[in-house]
Amino acid sequence: MGKVSIVWMRQDLRVEDHPALNAAAQRGSVLPVYIWSPQEEGHCPLGGASRWWLHHSLKRLENDLRSLGLPLIIRKGKSLECLKEVIKEAKADALFWSRQYEPYAIKREIQIKAELTKEGVLVKSFPGNILYEPWTIQNKQGKPFQVFTFFWKNCLAKEKPLDPLPAPMGVKGQVIEVDSLDIEDLNLLPRTPWDEGIAHTWKPGSAYAKEFLAYFLEGSVRDYHERRDRPDLPGTSRLSPYLHFGEISVRTVWHEVVDRVGFQVAEPYLRQLGWRDFAYHLLYHFPHTLQEPMRPEFASFPWKENKKFLKAWQKGVTGYPFVDAGMRQLWMTGWMHNRARLVVGSFLVKDLLLPWQKGAAWFWDMLVDADLANNTLGWQWVAGCGADAAPYFRIFNPATQGKKFDPEGNYVRKWIPEIANLPDQWIHQPWEAPPEVLHKAGIKLGEDYPYPIVNHEEARLKALEAFEEIKTS
Ligand SMILES: Cc1cc2nc3c(=O)[nH]c(=O)nc-3n(C[C@H](O)[C@H](O)[C@H](O)COP(=O)(O)OP(=O)(O)OC[C@H]3O[C@@H](n4cnc5c(N)ncnc54)[C@H](O)[C@@H]3O)c2cc1C
Repeated sequence: MGKVSIVWMRQDLRVEDHPALNAAAQRGSVLPVYIWSPQEEGHCPLGGASRWWLHHSLKRLENDLRSLGLPLIIRKGKSLECLKEVIKEAKADALFWSRQYEPYAIKREIQIKAELTKEGVLVKSFPGNILYEPWTIQNKQGKPFQVFTFFWKNCLAKEKPLDPLPAPMGVKGQVIEVDSLDIEDLNLLPRTPWDEGIAHTWKPGSAYAKEFLAYFLEGSVRDYHERRDRPDLPGTSRLSPYLHFGEISVRTVWHEVVDRVGFQVAEPYLRQLGWRDFAYHLLYHFPHTLQEPMRPEFASFPWKENKKFLKAWQKGVTGYPFVDAGMRQLWMTGWMHNRARLVVGSFLVKDLLLPWQKGAAWFWDMLVDADLANNTLGWQWVAGCGADAAPYFRIFNPATQGKKFDPEGNYVRKWIPEIANLPDQWIHQPWEAPPEVLHKAGIKLGEDYPYPIVNHEEARLKALEAFEEIKTS
Protein backbone atom coordinates (compact mmCIF):
# COMPACT_ATOMS: atom_id res chain seq x y z
CA MET A 1 0.00 0.00 0.00
CA GLY A 2 1.24 3.52 -0.85
CA LYS A 3 1.33 6.56 1.36
CA VAL A 4 -1.88 7.53 3.15
CA SER A 5 -2.46 11.05 4.49
CA ILE A 6 -5.24 12.15 6.80
CA VAL A 7 -6.49 15.71 6.25
CA TRP A 8 -8.06 16.99 9.45
CA MET A 9 -10.72 19.52 8.41
CA ARG A 10 -12.14 22.18 10.73
CA GLN A 11 -12.67 25.75 9.59
CA ASP A 12 -11.51 24.96 6.05
CA LEU A 13 -14.61 23.22 4.70
CA ARG A 14 -13.72 23.51 1.02
CA VAL A 15 -11.68 21.73 -1.64
CA GLU A 16 -10.29 24.75 -3.52
CA ASP A 17 -7.30 26.74 -2.31
CA HIS A 18 -6.69 24.13 0.35
CA PRO A 19 -2.89 23.75 0.65
CA ALA A 20 -3.17 20.83 3.12
CA LEU A 21 -5.50 18.87 0.82
CA ASN A 22 -3.31 19.52 -2.22
CA ALA A 23 -0.15 18.45 -0.40
CA ALA A 24 -1.86 15.26 0.75
CA ALA A 25 -3.15 14.50 -2.76
CA GLN A 26 0.37 14.73 -4.13
CA ARG A 27 1.60 12.03 -1.72
CA GLY A 28 -0.93 9.27 -2.43
CA SER A 29 -4.21 8.28 -0.78
CA VAL A 30 -6.14 10.97 1.10
CA LEU A 31 -8.66 10.63 3.89
CA PRO A 32 -10.42 13.86 4.93
CA VAL A 33 -11.74 13.70 8.51
CA TYR A 34 -14.04 15.97 10.50
CA ILE A 35 -14.15 15.51 14.28
CA TRP A 36 -16.97 16.94 16.38
CA SER A 37 -15.38 17.79 19.71
CA PRO A 38 -17.20 20.74 21.27
CA GLN A 39 -15.84 20.00 24.75
CA GLU A 40 -12.40 21.05 23.49
CA GLU A 41 -13.48 24.55 22.58
CA GLY A 42 -13.01 25.86 26.13
CA HIS A 43 -15.72 28.19 27.24
CA CYS A 44 -16.96 28.81 23.69
CA PRO A 45 -18.60 25.70 22.23
CA LEU A 46 -20.42 26.49 18.99
CA GLY A 47 -23.60 28.54 19.30
CA GLY A 48 -26.97 27.50 17.85
CA ALA A 49 -26.69 29.40 14.56
CA SER A 50 -23.16 28.10 13.96
CA ARG A 51 -24.28 24.53 14.59
CA TRP A 52 -27.01 24.95 11.98
CA TRP A 53 -24.45 26.28 9.51
CA LEU A 54 -21.95 23.55 10.27
CA HIS A 55 -24.48 20.79 9.64
CA HIS A 56 -25.26 22.07 6.16
CA SER A 57 -21.67 22.97 5.44
CA LEU A 58 -20.54 19.41 6.16
CA LYS A 59 -23.24 18.12 3.81
CA ARG A 60 -21.95 20.31 1.02
CA LEU A 61 -18.37 19.40 1.75
CA GLU A 62 -19.25 15.72 1.57
CA ASN A 63 -20.59 16.32 -1.95
CA ASP A 64 -17.61 18.39 -3.01
CA LEU A 65 -15.19 15.73 -1.79
CA ARG A 66 -17.20 12.98 -3.47
CA SER A 67 -16.71 14.74 -6.80
CA LEU A 68 -12.94 14.31 -6.22
CA GLY A 69 -13.46 10.65 -5.40
CA LEU A 70 -12.92 11.20 -1.68
CA PRO A 71 -15.08 10.34 1.33
CA LEU A 72 -15.62 12.57 4.37
CA ILE A 73 -15.03 10.62 7.57
CA ILE A 74 -17.02 11.93 10.51
CA ARG A 75 -16.01 11.16 14.08
CA LYS A 76 -17.10 12.44 17.47
CA GLY A 77 -14.95 12.72 20.62
CA LYS A 78 -11.53 13.98 21.65
CA SER A 79 -9.54 15.07 18.61
CA LEU A 80 -6.31 13.31 19.50
CA GLU A 81 -8.03 10.01 20.28
CA CYS A 82 -10.14 10.13 17.11
CA LEU A 83 -7.14 11.00 14.97
CA LYS A 84 -5.12 8.16 16.45
CA GLU A 85 -7.96 5.73 15.69
CA VAL A 86 -8.35 6.88 12.10
CA ILE A 87 -4.59 6.84 11.51
CA LYS A 88 -4.46 3.26 12.75
CA GLU A 89 -7.52 2.07 10.81
CA ALA A 90 -6.37 3.71 7.57
CA LYS A 91 -2.73 2.73 8.12
CA ALA A 92 -1.90 6.37 7.50
CA ASP A 93 1.59 7.75 7.83
CA ALA A 94 0.82 11.49 7.67
CA LEU A 95 -1.57 14.03 9.14
CA PHE A 96 -2.08 17.44 7.52
CA TRP A 97 -4.27 20.38 8.56
CA SER A 98 -4.90 24.07 7.92
CA ARG A 99 -3.85 26.15 10.92
CA GLN A 100 -6.33 27.72 13.31
CA TYR A 101 -5.34 30.69 15.42
CA GLU A 102 -7.73 30.64 18.40
CA PRO A 103 -6.00 30.01 21.77
CA TYR A 104 -7.76 26.68 22.46
CA ALA A 105 -7.00 25.46 18.91
CA ILE A 106 -3.32 26.37 19.10
CA LYS A 107 -2.96 24.48 22.38
CA ARG A 108 -4.61 21.44 20.85
CA GLU A 109 -2.49 21.56 17.68
CA ILE A 110 0.74 21.74 19.68
CA GLN A 111 -0.27 18.74 21.77
CA ILE A 112 -1.38 16.65 18.80
CA LYS A 113 1.69 17.45 16.77
CA ALA A 114 4.02 16.49 19.65
CA GLU A 115 2.17 13.27 20.43
CA LEU A 116 1.80 11.97 16.88
CA THR A 117 5.29 12.97 15.78
CA LYS A 118 6.56 10.87 18.67
CA GLU A 119 4.62 7.96 17.19
CA GLY A 120 6.32 8.38 13.83
CA VAL A 121 3.49 10.16 11.98
CA LEU A 122 4.46 12.98 9.63
CA VAL A 123 2.47 15.96 10.98
CA LYS A 124 2.34 19.14 8.92
CA SER A 125 0.28 22.32 9.28
CA PHE A 126 -0.49 24.71 6.42
CA PRO A 127 -1.61 28.37 6.22
CA GLY A 128 -5.15 28.81 7.52
CA ASN A 129 -7.85 31.17 6.37
CA ILE A 130 -6.15 34.51 6.90
CA LEU A 131 -4.06 36.68 4.59
CA TYR A 132 -0.86 36.84 6.64
CA GLU A 133 0.35 34.55 9.41
CA PRO A 134 0.16 36.52 12.70
CA TRP A 135 3.86 36.07 13.50
CA THR A 136 4.98 37.54 10.17
CA ILE A 137 3.53 41.00 10.84
CA GLN A 138 5.46 42.95 13.47
CA ASN A 139 6.78 46.41 14.21
CA LYS A 140 10.43 47.47 14.17
CA GLN A 141 10.87 46.24 17.74
CA GLY A 142 9.58 42.81 16.72
CA LYS A 143 6.33 43.36 18.66
CA PRO A 144 2.76 42.80 17.45
CA PHE A 145 0.80 45.81 16.24
CA GLN A 146 -2.02 47.28 18.32
CA VAL A 147 -3.08 49.99 15.89
CA PHE A 148 -4.86 48.90 12.74
CA THR A 149 -3.43 51.56 10.39
CA PHE A 150 0.17 50.52 11.15
CA PHE A 151 -0.74 46.84 10.99
CA TRP A 152 -2.37 47.27 7.60
CA LYS A 153 0.48 49.37 6.19
CA ASN A 154 2.86 46.60 7.19
CA CYS A 155 0.66 43.95 5.53
CA LEU A 156 0.42 45.92 2.29
CA ALA A 157 4.18 46.34 2.19
CA LYS A 158 4.56 42.56 2.14
CA GLU A 159 4.20 40.26 -0.85
CA LYS A 160 0.56 40.07 -1.96
CA PRO A 161 -1.35 37.14 -0.42
CA LEU A 162 -0.51 33.74 -1.88
CA ASP A 163 -2.25 32.89 -5.14
CA PRO A 164 -5.18 30.52 -4.58
CA LEU A 165 -4.65 26.87 -5.52
CA PRO A 166 -7.11 24.88 -7.62
CA ALA A 167 -8.80 21.80 -6.13
CA PRO A 168 -6.60 18.70 -6.45
CA MET A 169 -7.09 17.23 -9.94
CA GLY A 170 -7.41 13.74 -8.57
CA VAL A 171 -5.59 11.72 -5.98
CA LYS A 172 -2.78 9.34 -6.76
CA GLY A 173 -3.60 6.59 -4.31
CA GLN A 174 -6.43 4.12 -3.86
CA VAL A 175 -9.64 4.91 -1.96
CA ILE A 176 -9.36 4.09 1.74
CA GLU A 177 -12.37 2.84 3.61
CA VAL A 178 -12.83 3.34 7.34
CA ASP A 179 -15.97 3.68 9.48
CA SER A 180 -17.72 7.02 9.63
CA LEU A 181 -20.68 8.46 11.49
CA ASP A 182 -23.41 10.16 9.50
CA ILE A 183 -23.52 13.94 9.73
CA GLU A 184 -26.99 13.58 11.29
CA ASP A 185 -25.44 11.60 14.17
CA LEU A 186 -23.78 14.79 15.36
CA ASN A 187 -27.21 16.28 16.20
CA LEU A 188 -26.10 19.72 15.18
CA LEU A 189 -29.44 21.11 14.10
CA PRO A 190 -30.94 23.20 16.87
CA ARG A 191 -34.62 22.76 17.59
CA THR A 192 -35.50 26.42 17.79
CA PRO A 193 -38.12 28.48 16.00
CA TRP A 194 -35.54 30.80 14.47
CA ASP A 195 -33.68 28.25 12.38
CA GLU A 196 -36.44 28.58 9.77
CA GLY A 197 -35.60 32.25 9.31
CA ILE A 198 -31.93 31.38 8.93
CA ALA A 199 -32.69 28.59 6.44
CA HIS A 200 -34.74 31.06 4.43
CA THR A 201 -31.82 33.50 4.25
CA TRP A 202 -28.71 31.35 3.84
CA LYS A 203 -27.33 28.44 1.89
CA PRO A 204 -24.06 27.18 3.36
CA GLY A 205 -21.34 25.65 1.18
CA SER A 206 -18.53 26.63 -1.17
CA ALA A 207 -20.75 26.79 -4.26
CA TYR A 208 -22.94 29.42 -2.59
CA ALA A 209 -19.91 31.29 -1.29
CA LYS A 210 -18.81 31.63 -4.91
CA GLU A 211 -22.30 32.78 -5.89
CA PHE A 212 -22.27 35.45 -3.17
CA LEU A 213 -18.84 36.60 -4.31
CA ALA A 214 -19.93 36.71 -7.97
CA TYR A 215 -23.04 38.69 -7.03
CA PHE A 216 -20.92 41.17 -5.07
CA LEU A 217 -18.43 41.50 -7.94
CA GLU A 218 -21.25 42.14 -10.41
CA GLY A 219 -22.96 44.67 -8.17
CA SER A 220 -21.83 46.46 -5.02
CA VAL A 221 -18.06 46.16 -5.15
CA ARG A 222 -17.54 49.42 -7.01
CA ASP A 223 -19.79 51.41 -4.64
CA TYR A 224 -18.66 49.55 -1.54
CA HIS A 225 -17.02 52.60 0.08
CA GLU A 226 -20.26 54.58 -0.24
CA ARG A 227 -22.78 51.90 0.61
CA ARG A 228 -21.02 49.69 3.14
CA ASP A 229 -22.46 51.63 6.09
CA ARG A 230 -26.07 51.47 4.89
CA PRO A 231 -28.03 48.55 6.37
CA ASP A 232 -31.01 49.49 4.19
CA LEU A 233 -29.02 48.72 1.00
CA PRO A 234 -27.40 45.49 -0.21
CA GLY A 235 -23.96 47.13 -0.14
CA THR A 236 -21.71 44.51 1.46
CA SER A 237 -20.58 41.05 0.37
CA ARG A 238 -22.24 39.01 3.17
CA LEU A 239 -19.36 36.57 2.91
CA SER A 240 -18.65 36.49 6.66
CA PRO A 241 -20.11 33.05 7.49
CA TYR A 242 -18.49 31.52 4.40
CA LEU A 243 -15.16 33.00 5.43
CA HIS A 244 -15.57 31.86 9.01
CA PHE A 245 -16.18 28.23 8.04
CA GLY A 246 -13.53 28.42 5.36
CA GLU A 247 -15.96 27.55 2.56
CA ILE A 248 -14.12 30.15 0.55
CA SER A 249 -10.55 31.19 1.23
CA VAL A 250 -9.83 34.81 2.04
CA ARG A 251 -6.97 34.67 -0.49
CA THR A 252 -9.46 33.76 -3.22
CA VAL A 253 -11.70 36.67 -2.23
CA TRP A 254 -8.73 39.06 -2.21
CA HIS A 255 -7.51 38.04 -5.67
CA GLU A 256 -10.92 37.94 -7.31
CA VAL A 257 -11.82 41.39 -6.06
CA VAL A 258 -8.48 42.88 -7.14
CA ASP A 259 -8.63 41.13 -10.53
CA ARG A 260 -12.12 42.49 -11.15
CA VAL A 261 -11.79 46.15 -10.14
CA GLY A 262 -8.08 46.78 -9.54
CA PHE A 263 -6.38 47.48 -6.21
CA GLN A 264 -7.38 51.16 -6.02
CA VAL A 265 -11.14 50.55 -6.24
CA ALA A 266 -10.87 47.37 -4.18
CA GLU A 267 -8.96 48.99 -1.31
CA PRO A 268 -11.93 49.90 0.95
CA TYR A 269 -13.11 46.29 0.75
CA LEU A 270 -9.64 44.78 1.17
CA ARG A 271 -9.25 46.97 4.26
CA GLN A 272 -12.18 45.12 5.84
CA LEU A 273 -10.46 41.82 5.09
CA GLY A 274 -7.51 43.51 6.79
CA TRP A 275 -9.62 44.17 9.92
CA ARG A 276 -10.43 40.48 9.89
CA ASP A 277 -6.72 39.60 9.82
CA PHE A 278 -6.08 42.23 12.53
CA ALA A 279 -8.65 40.49 14.75
CA TYR A 280 -6.75 37.20 14.36
CA HIS A 281 -3.43 38.99 14.91
CA LEU A 282 -4.68 40.42 18.21
CA LEU A 283 -6.25 37.19 19.46
CA TYR A 284 -3.09 35.28 18.58
CA HIS A 285 -0.79 37.69 20.42
CA PHE A 286 -3.15 38.65 23.26
CA PRO A 287 -5.22 35.52 23.95
CA HIS A 288 -6.49 36.84 27.30
CA THR A 289 -8.64 39.39 25.42
CA LEU A 290 -11.26 36.71 24.80
CA GLN A 291 -12.60 37.44 28.26
CA GLU A 292 -10.62 40.39 29.56
CA PRO A 293 -10.37 43.94 28.24
CA MET A 294 -7.24 44.76 26.28
CA ARG A 295 -7.00 48.03 28.22
CA PRO A 296 -6.45 46.95 31.83
CA GLU A 297 -8.16 50.04 33.36
CA PHE A 298 -11.49 48.68 32.06
CA ALA A 299 -11.23 45.68 34.39
CA SER A 300 -12.64 47.91 37.16
CA PHE A 301 -15.39 49.49 35.03
CA PRO A 302 -18.62 49.60 37.07
CA TRP A 303 -20.75 47.47 34.70
CA LYS A 304 -24.32 46.79 35.87
CA GLU A 305 -26.36 43.60 36.09
CA ASN A 306 -29.87 44.11 34.75
CA LYS A 307 -31.72 41.09 33.38
CA LYS A 308 -34.70 43.16 32.22
CA PHE A 309 -32.51 45.43 30.11
CA LEU A 310 -30.58 42.48 28.69
CA LYS A 311 -33.79 40.69 27.67
CA ALA A 312 -35.21 43.84 26.06
CA TRP A 313 -32.00 44.26 24.08
CA GLN A 314 -31.89 40.61 23.00
CA LYS A 315 -35.53 40.63 21.87
CA GLY A 316 -35.30 43.97 20.08
CA VAL A 317 -37.80 45.86 22.28
CA THR A 318 -35.68 48.70 23.67
CA GLY A 319 -37.90 51.39 22.13
CA TYR A 320 -35.02 52.61 19.93
CA PRO A 321 -36.03 51.48 16.42
CA PHE A 322 -32.54 51.33 14.87
CA VAL A 323 -31.27 49.19 17.76
CA ASP A 324 -34.36 46.97 17.69
CA ALA A 325 -34.17 46.53 13.91
CA GLY A 326 -30.61 45.24 14.23
CA MET A 327 -31.46 42.85 17.04
CA ARG A 328 -34.45 41.49 15.15
CA GLN A 329 -32.46 41.08 11.95
CA LEU A 330 -30.07 38.99 14.03
CA TRP A 331 -32.88 36.92 15.51
CA MET A 332 -34.60 36.35 12.17
CA THR A 333 -31.58 35.75 9.94
CA GLY A 334 -28.56 34.93 12.13
CA TRP A 335 -26.73 37.96 10.75
CA MET A 336 -26.63 41.70 11.32
CA HIS A 337 -25.22 44.54 9.26
CA ASN A 338 -21.94 45.93 10.61
CA ARG A 339 -23.32 49.44 11.21
CA ALA A 340 -26.16 47.95 13.24
CA ARG A 341 -23.65 45.77 15.18
CA LEU A 342 -21.79 48.95 16.12
CA VAL A 343 -24.94 50.74 17.26
CA VAL A 344 -26.55 47.85 19.19
CA GLY A 345 -23.17 47.13 20.80
CA SER A 346 -22.70 50.74 21.86
CA PHE A 347 -26.26 50.80 23.20
CA LEU A 348 -25.67 47.71 25.34
CA VAL A 349 -22.42 48.87 26.91
CA LYS A 350 -22.97 52.62 27.08
CA ASP A 351 -26.72 53.24 27.34
CA LEU A 352 -27.51 50.13 29.40
CA LEU A 353 -24.07 49.86 31.06
CA LEU A 354 -24.12 46.08 30.65
CA PRO A 355 -20.76 44.28 30.26
CA TRP A 356 -19.58 43.74 26.68
CA GLN A 357 -19.08 40.03 27.43
CA LYS A 358 -22.89 39.64 27.70
CA GLY A 359 -23.30 41.07 24.23
CA ALA A 360 -20.48 38.93 22.85
CA ALA A 361 -22.11 35.80 24.32
CA TRP A 362 -25.47 36.60 22.71
CA PHE A 363 -23.85 37.26 19.35
CA TRP A 364 -21.87 34.06 19.71
CA ASP A 365 -25.04 32.06 19.98
CA MET A 366 -27.05 33.92 17.36
CA LEU A 367 -24.63 34.78 14.53
CA VAL A 368 -24.08 32.44 11.60
CA ASP A 369 -20.69 34.13 11.24
CA ALA A 370 -19.84 33.88 14.97
CA ASP A 371 -16.07 34.07 15.01
CA LEU A 372 -13.97 34.28 18.17
CA ALA A 373 -11.44 36.71 16.77
CA ASN A 374 -13.88 39.05 15.00
CA ASN A 375 -16.50 38.96 17.73
CA THR A 376 -13.94 39.76 20.43
CA LEU A 377 -12.42 42.58 18.39
CA GLY A 378 -15.89 43.97 17.56
CA TRP A 379 -17.10 43.99 21.16
CA GLN A 380 -13.90 45.38 22.61
CA TRP A 381 -14.03 48.05 19.92
CA VAL A 382 -17.56 49.19 20.77
CA ALA A 383 -16.86 49.01 24.50
CA GLY A 384 -13.80 51.22 24.01
CA CYS A 385 -11.59 48.76 25.88
CA GLY A 386 -9.84 47.10 22.91
CA ALA A 387 -6.77 47.84 20.84
CA ASP A 388 -7.40 50.78 18.51
CA ALA A 389 -11.01 50.99 19.73
CA ALA A 390 -13.64 53.71 19.59
CA PRO A 391 -12.91 56.06 22.50
CA TYR A 392 -15.32 55.29 25.35
CA PHE A 393 -16.58 58.89 25.49
CA ARG A 394 -17.80 58.70 21.87
CA ILE A 395 -21.33 57.49 22.46
CA PHE A 396 -23.63 56.76 19.53
CA ASN A 397 -27.06 58.37 19.63
CA PRO A 398 -29.27 55.58 18.21
CA ALA A 399 -31.79 57.99 16.65
CA THR A 400 -29.10 60.09 14.96
CA GLN A 401 -27.33 56.96 13.72
CA GLY A 402 -30.63 55.73 12.31
CA LYS A 403 -31.29 58.98 10.47
CA LYS A 404 -27.79 59.00 9.02
CA PHE A 405 -27.50 55.38 7.91
CA ASP A 406 -31.15 54.50 7.27
CA PRO A 407 -32.38 57.87 6.02
CA GLU A 408 -35.74 56.70 4.66
CA GLY A 409 -36.29 54.27 7.52
CA ASN A 410 -36.50 51.24 5.22
CA TYR A 411 -34.31 49.09 7.44
CA VAL A 412 -36.45 49.87 10.48
CA ARG A 413 -39.70 49.32 8.56
CA LYS A 414 -38.52 45.93 7.36
CA TRP A 415 -37.70 44.60 10.84
CA ILE A 416 -40.23 46.50 12.93
CA PRO A 417 -43.45 46.26 10.95
CA GLU A 418 -45.53 47.53 13.87
CA ILE A 419 -44.23 51.08 13.31
CA ALA A 420 -43.91 50.87 9.53
CA ASN A 421 -46.68 53.44 8.98
CA LEU A 422 -44.83 56.22 10.74
CA PRO A 423 -43.61 59.01 8.45
CA ASP A 424 -39.83 59.15 7.83
CA GLN A 425 -39.48 62.10 10.17
CA TRP A 426 -40.49 60.03 13.22
CA ILE A 427 -39.46 56.53 12.28
CA HIS A 428 -36.23 56.69 14.31
CA GLN A 429 -37.79 58.44 17.32
CA PRO A 430 -41.44 57.44 17.66
CA TRP A 431 -41.57 58.71 21.26
CA GLU A 432 -41.28 62.26 19.91
CA ALA A 433 -44.07 61.88 17.34
CA PRO A 434 -47.14 64.06 18.08
CA PRO A 435 -50.22 62.09 19.25
CA GLU A 436 -52.11 62.81 16.00
CA VAL A 437 -49.23 61.36 13.93
CA LEU A 438 -49.20 58.19 16.03
CA HIS A 439 -52.98 57.99 15.82
CA LYS A 440 -52.95 58.36 12.04
CA ALA A 441 -50.29 55.65 11.76
CA GLY A 442 -52.45 53.39 13.95
CA ILE A 443 -49.77 53.04 16.63
CA LYS A 444 -50.38 52.93 20.35
CA LEU A 445 -46.97 53.63 21.84
CA GLY A 446 -46.37 51.56 24.95
CA GLU A 447 -48.65 48.82 23.56
CA ASP A 448 -47.72 48.15 19.92
CA TYR A 449 -44.13 49.29 20.38
CA PRO A 450 -42.38 50.25 23.64
CA TYR A 451 -41.30 53.64 24.92
CA PRO A 452 -37.48 53.85 25.20
CA ILE A 453 -36.27 51.75 28.15
CA VAL A 454 -33.72 54.44 29.02
CA ASN A 455 -33.46 58.11 28.16
CA HIS A 456 -30.42 58.35 25.89
CA GLU A 457 -29.25 61.74 27.15
CA GLU A 458 -29.40 60.67 30.80
CA ALA A 459 -27.80 57.31 29.98
CA ARG A 460 -24.99 59.08 28.15
CA LEU A 461 -24.18 61.23 31.18
CA LYS A 462 -24.21 58.16 33.44
CA ALA A 463 -21.84 56.35 31.09
CA LEU A 464 -19.46 59.31 31.10
CA GLU A 465 -19.55 59.38 34.92
CA ALA A 466 -18.73 55.66 35.04
CA PHE A 467 -15.85 56.29 32.64
CA GLU A 468 -14.53 59.10 34.87
CA GLU A 469 -14.51 56.60 37.77
CA ILE A 470 -12.06 54.27 36.04
CA LYS A 471 -9.95 57.17 34.81
CA THR A 472 -9.48 58.52 38.30
CA SER A 473 -9.26 55.21 40.20
C1 LIG B 1 -19.88 43.96 18.01
C2 LIG B 1 -19.40 43.32 16.74
C3 LIG B 1 -19.33 41.94 16.64
C4 LIG B 1 -18.88 41.32 15.46
N1 LIG B 1 -18.83 39.96 15.40
C5 LIG B 1 -18.38 39.35 14.27
C6 LIG B 1 -18.30 37.93 14.19
O1 LIG B 1 -18.57 37.21 15.14
N2 LIG B 1 -17.89 37.39 12.99
C7 LIG B 1 -17.55 38.16 11.92
O2 LIG B 1 -17.20 37.60 10.87
N3 LIG B 1 -17.60 39.50 12.00
C8 LIG B 1 -18.00 40.13 13.12
N4 LIG B 1 -18.05 41.50 13.18
C9 LIG B 1 -17.50 42.30 12.05
C10 LIG B 1 -18.49 42.68 10.95
O3 LIG B 1 -19.66 43.23 11.51
C11 LIG B 1 -18.87 41.52 10.03
O4 LIG B 1 -17.72 40.84 9.61
C12 LIG B 1 -19.60 42.03 8.79
O5 LIG B 1 -20.78 42.71 9.16
C13 LIG B 1 -19.94 40.86 7.88
O6 LIG B 1 -20.68 41.29 6.80
P1 LIG B 1 -20.12 41.18 5.31
O7 LIG B 1 -19.57 39.82 5.07
O8 LIG B 1 -21.20 41.66 4.41
O9 LIG B 1 -18.93 42.22 5.38
P2 LIG B 1 -18.18 43.03 4.22
O10 LIG B 1 -18.38 44.47 4.50
O11 LIG B 1 -18.55 42.54 2.89
O12 LIG B 1 -16.65 42.71 4.53
C14 LIG B 1 -15.95 41.60 3.97
C15 LIG B 1 -15.39 40.73 5.06
O13 LIG B 1 -14.44 41.45 5.85
C16 LIG B 1 -14.53 41.03 7.21
N5 LIG B 1 -14.94 42.19 8.02
C17 LIG B 1 -15.75 43.20 7.65
N6 LIG B 1 -15.86 44.10 8.65
C18 LIG B 1 -15.10 43.64 9.66
C19 LIG B 1 -14.81 44.13 10.96
N7 LIG B 1 -15.30 45.29 11.41
N8 LIG B 1 -14.01 43.40 11.76
C20 LIG B 1 -13.46 42.24 11.32
N9 LIG B 1 -13.71 41.71 10.09
C21 LIG B 1 -14.51 42.42 9.27
C22 LIG B 1 -15.58 39.94 7.28
O14 LIG B 1 -14.95 38.69 7.22
C23 LIG B 1 -16.42 40.23 6.05
O15 LIG B 1 -17.09 39.08 5.56
C24 LIG B 1 -18.50 42.13 14.36
C25 LIG B 1 -18.58 43.52 14.47
C26 LIG B 1 -19.02 44.11 15.64
C27 LIG B 1 -19.09 45.61 15.72
